[in-house]
Amino acid sequence: MTIAINQPLATDALRVDGSRLWASLMDLARVGATPKGGNCRLALTDEDRQGRDLVAGWLRDTGLDIRVDRLGNIFARRPGRNNDLPPVVTGSHIDTQPTGGRFDGNYGVLAGLEVMRVLNEQSITTEAPMEVVIWTNEEGSRFVPVMMGSGAFAGMFTPEAALAARDHDGISVADELTRIGYAGDMPVGGRTLGAYFEAHIEQGPVLEKEQLQVGVVTGSLGLSWFDVVVTGQEAHAGPTPMEYRRDALQTACALVSDILTLAEPHAPHGRVTCGEFRVFPNSRNVIPGRVNFSVDLRHLEPAVLTTMEQRLRELCDTHGNNAGIEVELFEVQRIPPTPFAPKLVERVRACTEALAIPHRDMVTGAGHDAVYISRVAPTAMIFVPCVDGISHNECEDAKPEDLEAGANVLLHAMLQTAEPIPPTDQAQ
Ligand SMILES: [Zn+2]
Repeated sequence: MTIAINQPLATDALRVDGSRLWASLMDLARVGATPKGGNCRLALTDEDRQGRDLVAGWLRDTGLDIRVDRLGNIFARRPGRNNDLPPVVTGSHIDTQPTGGRFDGNYGVLAGLEVMRVLNEQSITTEAPMEVVIWTNEEGSRFVPVMMGSGAFAGMFTPEAALAARDHDGISVADELTRIGYAGDMPVGGRTLGAYFEAHIEQGPVLEKEQLQVGVVTGSLGLSWFDVVVTGQEAHAGPTPMEYRRDALQTACALVSDILTLAEPHAPHGRVTCGEFRVFPNSRNVIPGRVNFSVDLRHLEPAVLTTMEQRLRELCDTHGNNAGIEVELFEVQRIPPTPFAPKLVERVRACTEALAIPHRDMVTGAGHDAVYISRVAPTAMIFVPCVDGISHNECEDAKPEDLEAGANVLLHAMLQTAEPIPPTDQAQ
C-alpha cells in the first residue's frame, strides 16, 4: 500500500460503518429491554448505569478520554492538534421513557461514537478537539425538570436545584448519582463549546411521508400558552328564549373556530392548538355560564409569534364585544423561539447535499438537549425518519440506511467544523 503524501486529504470519501452503528444500537437496546421490543432505562436507575457503563466503555475503547461532571453528564474527548480551541461536540441522551424505544437519544450518542471510530480508523487529526456527550436525564420521566443535564449546563437552572430533585419515592438525583458511580467532579457548564451537533430521530411523520432521509433542523419553535375564560350567564335551558341568552359556550365555540385558523397565514411553521376545554356548570339543562379553554401557539420566528398572539387578542375582543360576553385572556407561559446557528445549519445542509441524500429543512416542535445548548453554543440538529413517526413507544423503529445517512452528515459536518489537518502537516 502506498501513501499519497502530496495528495489533498481525501476526507470527502469518508463514510461511517452503518452496520457497526446498527449493531451498537442493538447492543445498547439489550440493556433494559422490554417485552414488546422497547427500552426502559429511567434516568439514574441500575439500567441507566448499565447503559452508561456499556457506552462509556465503547468510548474508552475508541481511545477517548472520559470525564464526568457533578450532574453525571459524560464527556468523551478526542484531542485535536490545538487543544486550546473549544471542542466540537455531539451527543444526546441514553435514558428512556418507561415504555421507550431503542433510538430516541441513543441514536445521537452512538452516531457520535461511530464518527469517532471512523476518524480513528482513518488516523485523522483535527485542528480542534472533538467530544461525544451523554446528557443526564433528558426524558424527565423519573426526575423533573426534563433535559436536566443540558439545562444545567446551559445555566437554565442551577446544578444544585437539579441535584436536589427527587423521584416519587423521595430519592434524590444526588444520591442516585453517587449510588450508580456517576457523580463526577467536573463543574457543570461554564466552559465554551465551539459547536454542538445533535442527530436524532424526527419523532414526527414528515420525513417518512415525503420519503426523505435527513431533516436539516433550522431551530426550535417558540411557544406561547394562554388560558381563555369566557363568562356568560347561567340560566334554565327551558324557560329562556334563544335571543335572551348569554351562552358562554356559544361564544367559546365561535371563538375557538376562529382561533384554530390563526396559524394558516403562517404556514408551515405556525401551530395553534386548543387542547383543553371545560364547561361550567356542565349540566344538560343549564345554559353554560362559563367556559375555560387553553391556547397553545407556536412559531419559529419571534415576530410571527408576536403577530399570532396579537391576533388572538383581537379575536377575543371581537367575539366578546359582538356577543356582549366577557372574554378574558391570561398568559400562562412563553418560551421564545430558538433559531439554531445559521452557519452550522448551512453546513449540515451543504454536507447533506454533497452526500446526495434527499432532505428538507424542518423545525423541531419537541424539546431536545440541543434546544438548551443552543443558548450557550452554536448548535445544529440532524433529523432522520422514524417508522410511522412514532416515538416514546416500545414499537419505535428506524431504518438502518436512514440512520447511516444521518450519521454520515454528522461525520462531515463535525469534521468540517473541527477542520481536518492534511496528512503532510500531521507529519511535521
Ligand atoms: Zn430524545
